Amino acid sequence: MKDASPATAPKTFYLKDYTPFGYDAESVHLTFRLAPETTRVISRIRFAPKPDAADRTFFLHGEELKLISAKIDGQAVTPELVEGGLKCEVPGAPFTWEAEVEINPAGNTALEGLYMSNRMYCTQCEAEGFRKITYYPDRPDVMSTFTVRIEGDEPVMLSNGNPMGQGEGWAEWHDPWPKPAYLFALVAGDLVNHPGSFTTKSGREVELNIWVRPGDEHKCAFGMEALKKSMKWDEDVYGLEYDLDLFNIVAVDDFNMGAMENKGLNIFNSSCVLASPETSTDANFERIEAIIAHEYFHNWTGNRITCRDWFQLCLKEGLTVFRDAQFTADMRSEPVKRIEDVIALRARQFPEDNGPLAHPPRPEQFQEINNFYTATVYEKGAEVIGMLKRLVGDENYYKALKLYFERHDGQACTIEDWLKVFEDATGRGLSQFKLWYSQAGTPRLKVSEDYADGTYTLTFEQSTPPTPGQPDKAPRVIPVAVGLLSPNGDEVRGTEVLELTEAKQSFTYQGLASKPVPSILREFSAPVILERETSNAERAFLLAHDTDPFNRWEAGNALAKEVRVAMVLDGAAPDAAYLDALEKLVRDDDQDPAFRALVLTPPSQSDIAQTLFDRGHTPDPQKIYDAAETFTQTLAQQLETSLPRLYAATTVDGPYAPDAEGAGKRALNGRILSLLTRLDGGEQAARQYQAADNMTQQYAALGALLKAENGEAQSQAFFKQWQDDRLVMDKWFALQIACAAPEKTAATAAALTRHPLFSMKNPNRFRAVFGALAGHHAGFHHASGEGYQLLADNLIALDKLNPQTTARMCAAFQTWKRYDAGRQSLIRAQLTRIAGTDGLSRDTTEMVTRILDA
Ligand code: ZN
Repeated sequence: MKDASPATAPKTFYLKDYTPFGYDAESVHLTFRLAPETTRVISRIRFAPKPDAADRTFFLHGEELKLISAKIDGQAVTPELVEGGLKCEVPGAPFTWEAEVEINPAGNTALEGLYMSNRMYCTQCEAEGFRKITYYPDRPDVMSTFTVRIEGDEPVMLSNGNPMGQGEGWAEWHDPWPKPAYLFALVAGDLVNHPGSFTTKSGREVELNIWVRPGDEHKCAFGMEALKKSMKWDEDVYGLEYDLDLFNIVAVDDFNMGAMENKGLNIFNSSCVLASPETSTDANFERIEAIIAHEYFHNWTGNRITCRDWFQLCLKEGLTVFRDAQFTADMRSEPVKRIEDVIALRARQFPEDNGPLAHPPRPEQFQEINNFYTATVYEKGAEVIGMLKRLVGDENYYKALKLYFERHDGQACTIEDWLKVFEDATGRGLSQFKLWYSQAGTPRLKVSEDYADGTYTLTFEQSTPPTPGQPDKAPRVIPVAVGLLSPNGDEVRGTEVLELTEAKQSFTYQGLASKPVPSILREFSAPVILERETSNAERAFLLAHDTDPFNRWEAGNALAKEVRVAMVLDGAAPDAAYLDALEKLVRDDDQDPAFRALVLTPPSQSDIAQTLFDRGHTPDPQKIYDAAETFTQTLAQQLETSLPRLYAATTVDGPYAPDAEGAGKRALNGRILSLLTRLDGGEQAARQYQAADNMTQQYAALGALLKAENGEAQSQAFFKQWQDDRLVMDKWFALQIACAAPEKTAATAAALTRHPLFSMKNPNRFRAVFGALAGHHAGFHHASGEGYQLLADNLIALDKLNPQTTARMCAAFQTWKRYDAGRQSLIRAQLTRIAGTDGLSRDTTEMVTRILDA
């Protein structure tokens, strides 16, 4: 291997090296003179040396800036330009720093800093993008008030906070709340607003707007309602009120992430805010509602209380994900939301936590912080808060949160601050619990049981496999919610939370008339992998009888996995008892349709691969695919006579509404349709495609037809109908790949990259194609290696334009050590090729290095 290391080794940043900045930024004034390729940014910042500062180095971050001039207290100065910023001699007393820089928004394809999307100016500053706008101490513990003047001829020019005035060619904004630079935002362009208003609990009128490009106005109503619901919910549940007179949301087509919580001016990937029944699926509606809530909730958990440094990212993200999950559970269905979240956790976080990219929710080092906006920081970060809440109880949880807001409002905080609040509010020590923040890896929890003379004993053994840099792990505090059922299905012990603190620990129950059936880890009370030897009969019993809806689903899911594993390993036929149990449940109209749809959702093929690997086998993706196909085909045949009735019974009458009840019914209806299509070749799906007046049904029908290789006509019709709608076109790109047979997946994706509407510059479109490719387990891992090669080719090309999105997508390779030697060497070759690319970004370099070093 020649020259796989970049010219300069990237710098590693460590949590332990934290030192405060030596100056307070008392106020920030910014003037923007907008021009696509030559925007001028003039800053005027009042700095005051901190009396107790250990380090008075005056270093300002700055990247890709052309410095025009700099002044201190009105006198021209010549700062020393250094790697990543500048240094300057400054007075020992408060002073005013002024700088003028030039930047190029039109040439900014990385979508970080100030950039252009469809002729619209917009910004993305988290985590370290503000340094691409002007020289500044770009770190979250430097908080200041921002006054912004925008000069340009854009019809709409927005920034954070409240409008101060506007006239021909200018607008001024002032944000009274001190904030770190990562929450700065500016938007300017030809935009129209969907207005709304909200009266806060103390009676303040807040003006709300969703700003979109002309033509998208009809896609704003749902987002606006979601915003109002979020504002009300945060008042009702957390007592938190909005703190400005204006709240703006802007939809942007080119965006690296989902959305961004800039103070008073949230910027959204248009896919995460724009919705209409004709263009959005039920899943889209649910996600949009959740993301609007998430960004809104950040106003308190993130903005009013922010992070001291980026190692603390899960302080705001874990908590805000936890809060948005509570919100969705309240708005929709608690068990359904919990099941969906656990499916997502296993699909995204478990592979991360059990592979080369494993890191603790609070990492201790990074090269590029953008690489740590991960499922571990977000989703596991939220799980950790869920465990904390379970351990201290609801009342104590809200008491601690109240103290958190009282004590830390206006501050930049750490995980230590957060845990201290819980310790002070509850009197409970949390030093062992804190291991959840510092240890990576998913704990395995082995359970064994014993019954004699009315006494039932559960014994738990916890262990966590080694992860990069962490060979040994200490036992953690694990809350395990357990209930006991009697063999006739009655609950003999309601849910109780057992607190594990040791490597091995037993709990006994006395006075039981017979050996109970345990229901362990109810509600998925901890993000662990449960290892328990049990029979399929017992799992089927729990699927039928468990009083905890999560564990009912979980029993079915575990059973589904066992059945598939047996099919893959022994070539066994699908287990008849399981098929019967499924049939019974699916046909039971007393059961919630959303729940039935979830039970019918097969475990992911990647999950089966991991399970096989964990049990010492080498997973064969094609065999896993074949088992899934055989299973579904057999299920369809078994249900044959009931399918038409079920299809009719789950068809929602009347006009489409994106509520949870209708969505649940349509989800089940979609699963029935896909089974039906296996028997009728697509007749019913073609009828549904014709008749559909909403995207959920149109998309389900198209997917079923494409899977049956009988959807060419509909696919063309779909394209004709929607070619001018970017978001719907993303679906069209993705669905063709997702539904392709494994041997055709890479070729389908490759052909789509040659389509006129494919674009490397639009992250949504790139992700539509390559997210679908990487998500097609058997297609991506096809023995030909074509999937690996295609992804690598495109990552190399994208890295020159957009390092952030490239680096994130490298994670597709993170599970490579699961597979056979042939696949491993194919993947290693691609990773090595990426790593050896000239001028590879710091982002991508860090990711491929970590993945390769496994
Ligand atoms: Zn967030």
